[in-house]
Amino acid sequence: MTAKVLDGKALAQKLRTDIAAKVADRLHRGLPAPGLAVVLVGEHAPSRVYVRNKQKACEQVGIRSWLYELPETTSQQELLDAVDRLNADPIVNGILVQLPLPKQIHEDAIIRAVHPLKDVDAFHPENIGLLAVGMPRYLPCTPFGVHQLLVHNDIDPTGKRIVILGRSNIVGKPLALMLMQKKTIAHPTGGDATVTVAHRQTRDLADILRTADIVVAAAGSPRLVTGHMIRPGAVVVDVGTNQVEGKLVGDVDFVTVAEVASALSPVPGGVGPMTITMLLQNTLLAAQWQDAA
Ligand code: ADP
Repeated sequence: MTAKVLDGKALAQKLRTDIAAKVADRLHRGLPAPGLAVVLVGEHAPSRVYVRNKQKACEQVGIRSWLYELPETTSQQELLDAVDRLNADPIVNGILVQLPLPKQIHEDAIIRAVHPLKDVDAFHPENIGLLAVGMPRYLPCTPFGVHQLLVHNDIDPTGKRIVILGRSNIVGKPLALMLMQKKTIAHPTGGDATVTVAHRQTRDLADILRTADIVVAAAGSPRLVTGHMIRPGAVVVDVGTNQVEGKLVGDVDFVTVAEVASALSPVPGGVGPMTITMLLQNTLLAAQWQDAA
């Protein structure tokens, strides 16, 4: 079998066209363009690239974005003050503080400081809590992107056995919440799937992965998932973004997995562009929430 490639880049472009039309419609109705404030602290090189890509995507759909660059030596209080100013600024609908942060700053304190209505990353405990009880306000961008990549390729998670490899607060855990959730009007992205979460302490990982109709690899370990761990015909989504010798490499060994899987998302060009598109979607939603507020 040679897997169908789940082209996140093409789908992202299509979805961005829809978002751009919705932004244009706001302007026609005399409403302001959605606005995203991006905060970058320090000199982390990959973060700089991510932030640039996010701002470019905003520009593409007509979302205003502002970059706040703070030095590596910024104190936690200085960053909290910056976040507070953005919380209070009515033209800012969404606030994104790019992680990781320098070691003198507790990420958790910053995540909690962002106003939940402006939390377009959906990292705030209030937003994760709403997701956990099946009433999400925002969906975290990477899990949302994985979900959209599946459903727009006619892969319905309902009733499927899904194994998620990784339990991070950003990817694995919220994706598990989404995919196990009952699909309702309040939660149309509920997956109605049977979800297993594997992690570093999981025994017999290959045996567990082989039970899956859909595998989502989000372990942050280059080419960890190989063809012999995949049931023939399974769908494999690769969330990994590992830098190996200056190259971007996923958590999935593309060559061996493509031999057995029915569909596989590439890295780059799979989940990455979808994640950024969901950030745009959330920023548009944030503007809509705040119109009503
Ligand atoms: P991400 O941001 O992509 O979710 P993290 O580094 O925050 O990545 O989390 C990595 C997750 O992957 C953790 O839950 C960890 O337990 C899991 N993981 C990492 N390596 C392995 C491995 N070799 N086998 C199983 N699980 C792993």
